[in-house]
Amino acid sequence: MGTVEGLISALRETCAGLPDKRRGKNSHYAMADIGLAAFSVFFIPSSTILAHQRHLAQGHGHGHSNCQTLFGITEIPSDNHIRDMLDPVPPEHFYPLFTPPVEVLEQGGGLTEFRRLDGHVLIAFDGTEYYRSAKLHCPRCSTRKRSGGTTEYFHSLVSATLVAPGHNRVVPLQPEFIVPQDGHDKQDCETLAARRWLAAHGPHYARLHPVYLGDDLYARQPICQAVQAVDGHFLFVCKPASHPTLQEYLTGVELPALAKKIKHGRQHFAYSYQWLCEVPLRDGPDALAVNWLMIEIRNAAGKITYRNSFITDLPVNRDTVIELAACGRARWKIENESFNTLKTKGYNLEHNFGHGKANLSAVLATLNLLAFAFHTAAELTHDLWRRAMTQAGARVRFFSRLREITAFLVFPSWLNLLQTLAFEAPPPVPP
Ligand SMILES: [Zn+2]
Repeated sequence: MGTVEGLISALRETCAGLPDKRRGKNSHYAMADIGLAAFSVFFIPSSTILAHQRHLAQGHGHGHSNCQTLFGITEIPSDNHIRDMLDPVPPEHFYPLFTPPVEVLEQGGGLTEFRRLDGHVLIAFDGTEYYRSAKLHCPRCSTRKRSGGTTEYFHSLVSATLVAPGHNRVVPLQPEFIVPQDGHDKQDCETLAARRWLAAHGPHYARLHPVYLGDDLYARQPICQAVQAVDGHFLFVCKPASHPTLQEYLTGVELPALAKKIKHGRQHFAYSYQWLCEVPLRDGPDALAVNWLMIEIRNAAGKITYRNSFITDLPVNRDTVIELAACGRARWKIENESFNTLKTKGYNLEHNFGHGKANLSAVLATLNLLAFAFHTAAELTHDLWRRAMTQAGARVRFFSRLREITAFLVFPSWLNLLQTLAFEAPPPVPP
């Protein structure tokens, strides 16, 4: 069994065990069919896949569709039924499924590409809004006032993502949803969610020796300590301007420094680094001592093109500072990768299923991240998937081919579909 089939069959098992609110004879569609139908929309990814597959099953597919052959769905439920049945399901039910893609990578050697800083992996935290509307809302929406007195509704989550510098693939891990809490501002809510994530999942990922990445709002003692409590390390953006104690220590001392000339294409850049070890993160006797580092990049004209600073509990010196700065910068990858997908595709999805009243929005965001994790695992460990992608030339073109070809032809298996996309076998003959 290939990577894709294995991961989907693990998902089917989970979906079969989802809580079912129906009683008596109304339970026509199995929960497994309902969960997998929603997932297929993200995995193909296509907001029209279910409509196409219903059409195929009723027409020349003679009862068969790709929902059945590729996802093991016996009968395709309606969009309304999917919404009603998934709305009460807590998204946590899907969290164990984020483990198999990481295991697949570990076993298939795909994780070596993520190993940095002498055997560590990087897990980046980031707060992301995955739903925003001026109209449609639910009791779990966060709200904010817009100019003109209108209210905007939104949902956000803290994502945890395996990233690596110089590597354009990322692996989403379990999300943690940010729930509005009275008496806390937006930043509090995000950092509290990150601490819940660490408590829930940190021990599980400790075996990978993670270094957690985050922006300046994570560079606070309670989060640094929460990371260390689960045997992790931190490498957080830390602006001296928002850390006055640290700022004081950095002022008026001659900092250790390192300079390097680097060529990107035809352009020359000057990289300079500075650092200082054992600096208190905040005021007071119980302050955590951290190591601070800074990177500055100038182009040939002497103009600063990038500048950032970080704190970490890893040793900073001439031998490590370059790699640490590169890893700290890797955090920005996730904004370009998983969340563009989550935002654009996620917004699409609201059109299919509506907004729900309880968990729907969170369940769909979770399935979207899960599909993304499955894609990366397949891409890094599944030869045929990779050949099909190479044949398409680019990632987006691979997915548009997948979307188009499955709308018209029923493939007996993933093997057959991927062989067709890799041009190693002819497509099935339409009846
Ligand atoms: Zn809502």
